[in-house]
Amino acid sequence: MTTTAGHTPNTEILRLDDVGKRYGNVNALRGVTLAVRQGEITCVLGDNGAGKSTLIKIIAGLHQHSEGVLTVNGEEVHFTSPRDSLGRGIATVYQDLALVPLMSIWRNFFLGQELRKGVGPFSHLDVKRMQRITGEELTKMGISVPDLDRNVGALSGGQRQCIAIARAIYFGAKVLILDEPTAALGVKQSGVVLKYVAKARDAGLGVIFITHNPHHAYLVGNHFVILNRGLVSLDSARADITLDRLTNEMAGGAELEALSHELSAPGTTPEPAATLASARPTEG
Ligand code: ADP
Repeated sequence: MTTTAGHTPNTEILRLDDVGKRYGNVNALRGVTLAVRQGEITCVLGDNGAGKSTLIKIIAGLHQHSEGVLTVNGEEVHFTSPRDSLGRGIATVYQDLALVPLMSIWRNFFLGQELRKGVGPFSHLDVKRMQRITGEELTKMGISVPDLDRNVGALSGGQRQCIAIARAIYFGAKVLILDEPTAALGVKQSGVVLKYVAKARDAGLGVIFITHNPHHAYLVGNHFVILNRGLVSLDSARADITLDRLTNEMAGGAELEALSHELSAPGTTPEPAATLASARPTEG
């Protein structure tokens, strides 16, 4: 079977085996095993302190793992800088740092990879070509921006995330890490961003979608991994899990059940854990 983009799905691009990370005495991650496949979205869920940022930093080359094996396309890697990770086709879109607010949309799109024309000291930025390509690429993604000279700061958080995703795809990312792309957004904007997350998947990228929101994860995810205090507490393909169970597991499952009993006032029936879980505020 091939996707619309002509890729064979399920090819593993990136893999962590038994990966651990210690910061001094703190065990931020222990025994983390997970796979990222081409044309799939792997959602990594977890509460604050679960180890999500540590995981991103290891894959993005900002921090090195203390234990275990990180593999890209079947080859073991040891990243010592973000450049190493980028060189392997891994692009990371951070929530607040995706783009430079005081620069135009097209400048942001080509930031660090500007096109020039002419040679040597007489070369200059090929503004027209960068503007044209930015326009074409955004249109391809279904993003309509009437004025590419506008500063990115004037765009909504959702639009900014979408432009950062389009840029990663254009520059040939094979793996896209999205760090809580919907955490600061309202319902409508989250929907727009999720649409582009799905487009990245359809373009054949392996997407790692970090979130604390099981509802957003379930809308687009093919695979779900929950981190809990540095350990993988759940690893499930979409076919094997319902949204209710994912929400419940994310909220702490058994711990929540116990809390529900503890908190029930005398003479009242305790709330089932699943109800508590779905009542948990998940919108950032
Ligand atoms: P999350 O992103 O899920 O909130 P983090 O990866 O930031 O989780 O943190 C996981 C654990 O590692 C926490 O206990 C946190 O305090 C600890 N930690 C993270 N970064 C550092 C660091 N640079 N030095 C020491 N401890 C850290």
